[in-house]
Amino acid sequence: MREDDGLLERQVNQQGKRRRSEKSPPLCIYCRTAKADTRDHVPPEVLFPIPKPSTLVTVPACRACNRGFQKDDEVFALLLTSLLEVNPQGRSVFRSKVAEGLLKRSPKLRKALAATMHFRPHTFPGGQQGLAPALLIERDRMLRVLRRIVRGLFWHEYRC
Ligand SMILES: [Zn+2]
Repeated sequence: MREDDGLLERQVNQQGKRRRSEKSPPLCIYCRTAKADTRDHVPPEVLFPIPKPSTLVTVPACRACNRGFQKDDEVFALLLTSLLEVNPQGRSVFRSKVAEGLLKRSPKLRKALAATMHFRPHTFPGGQQGLAPALLIERDRMLRVLRRIVRGLFWHEYRC
């Protein structure tokens, strides 16, 4: 065996290993134990009006993790799109996804939100002072969504 044959054999073996690792599904970036058999949108897809942009970032996630995010994402969308001075895209998301989606199919959430509804002092655009409707939203739920967005964008940027 020539010295070059050994080098060629090592190169072929390395290419084979690389090909195998490229073909095997990656691990879920959230739990890091299950194989990623879905893609998770980061930020959550529910935050975008219809039609959604084609350039949304997705990251590998297992089905169990991905399913577990749905309610958090919807409540996060509710929080962001029910603000008083929300932009037209936010109003569109509120109408199409929050009012016609989440709130319509979840009487329990509607009841819980109604129980927390209250009025707080607010300065409106133009400087007028008055009372504005306010809701109490679970802080932990919002932090879970924000942490997941940061985790996903970090993975998207650095692949780790
Ligand atoms: Zn997972």
